[in-house]
Amino acid sequence: MEKNEENSYDIAVIGAGCMGSACARHLAECYKGKKVCLIGPDEPTLPRSQSVPRHQSGRSVFAAYYDQGRITRHLDADPVWCQLANRSIPRYRQLEKATGVQYYHERGFLVLGSKDDPKIAQINKVAEMIGFNYEQLSYTELKRRFPYLQVPHHFIGLYESTDAGYISPRGQVEAEIKAATDNGCTLVREIVNKVSRNNDGDYIIITETNKVITSRKIVVATGAFTLFKEIIPDDIRQRLDIQCGTQTVVKLQVNAADRQRYSNMPCMVYLCPEDPMQYWYSLPPVLYPDGQYYLKIGHGGDLIKIMPTHKDVLKWFHGHGDPKTTDILTKAMLSVLPGFKPVSIKPDGCAYTITPHSHVMIDKITENMVLLSGGNGYAAKSSDEIGRVGALTITHDNWHYDIPQEAFKLCFKLTPKL
Ligand SMILES: Cc1cc2nc3c(=O)[nH]c(=O)nc-3n(C[C@H](O)[C@H](O)[C@H](O)COP(=O)(O)OP(=O)(O)OC[C@H]3O[C@@H](n4cnc5c(N)ncnc54)[C@H](O)[C@@H]3O)c2cc1C
Repeated sequence: MEKNEENSYDIAVIGAGCMGSACARHLAECYKGKKVCLIGPDEPTLPRSQSVPRHQSGRSVFAAYYDQGRITRHLDADPVWCQLANRSIPRYRQLEKATGVQYYHERGFLVLGSKDDPKIAQINKVAEMIGFNYEQLSYTELKRRFPYLQVPHHFIGLYESTDAGYISPRGQVEAEIKAATDNGCTLVREIVNKVSRNNDGDYIIITETNKVITSRKIVVATGAFTLFKEIIPDDIRQRLDIQCGTQTVVKLQVNAADRQRYSNMPCMVYLCPEDPMQYWYSLPPVLYPDGQYYLKIGHGGDLIKIMPTHKDVLKWFHGHGDPKTTDILTKAMLSVLPGFKPVSIKPDGCAYTITPHSHVMIDKITENMVLLSGGNGYAAKSSDEIGRVGALTITHDNWHYDIPQEAFKLCFKLTPKL
């Protein structure tokens, strides 16, 4: 195939979501001599539930960032996630300033749990190890600071009042893309169907509209759709252990009086290890594009169901989540906020990528191709640093980061022994 200089790059990042946009920005900023492109579609203009289903030639990929609120925090039971957040959070304001896109809301973060819960002890341990500002609040102190919260008497709180809160993932992606393109990255609004290699070892990228792009190197940051297109070589793609899990979120509309009442409400995680969902999380009233404020709730644990096929994922993205889960989450939030009467209740469905080590896989898949995928529901807040690690990995022969590569390694499905 003829090489067309205009559509030929040193590095192509496929997937313009949280991780891909950040990776493209770091590449464009730090490796000025390189020709970089970021390939991926924008958010659809219609709500997903109203867009055309795939069997009627509708959209074949979506993203996990189509929302106004993702919790950001240091407090975490996992030192790797804590460290990635610790490196990303200080850069939010710099990126906002550089691009003029505001996306960070410093509202604080609170973990609620039983004082005997081993997870509380683990979070404390990681916090001591990494070192950042937070407080341990007794039940009495919790009631004093957040009088509208009702939790059991044996509960305590771990509270970060600063350098935590929520980001708009839409805003963050917009800012990363602006910073990337301001630094010379080319943005190609296309969906990639297939990648192959020519005799010179260059990658040939074919999009859904048959546009052909060549690139010396590729970063694959395609989120929940990583295994569903012919981008990664077949033999590796079929063995990669990345699963796609359902996530139901519920938005509870808040009236003006309740907004006032909850004006100091932080983002929260409520630990409930005896419950099948293990934990649930909430965001304080967040302004949505319809002009209304919503408190948003989501879940972990057994309520997440694995979706094995591309068809399953697309069907889920077109729906409104699971009605039973909606009910469980609404009840959980109302039990903690007695007297709260939502103006409306709006469920929605989204998807997580899940990896065996619960971290992002950042590793060489094959020569000159790096995978950057597997957010496990935690990556929006830390995607700036994750993108930077992706940029380091594609531009160096060996692992070039201070957290050992083992934490981000590729994981493969176990093949049955004959
Ligand atoms: C309901 C929900 C709540 C969450 N809450 C939090 C939270 O509170 N805090 C937090 O830190 N994280 C949270 N997360 C996780 C976070 O949103 C994800 O980890 C993050 O979005 C993953 O980034 P990504 O770049 O891997 O995927 P995405 O952001 O989904 O981006 C992938 C991109 O790749 C594109 N793409 C896919 N296939 C192709 C293709 N073939 N060609 C071109 N482009 C393609 C997609 O269109 C998309 O733009 C939550 C996730 C969900 C679903």
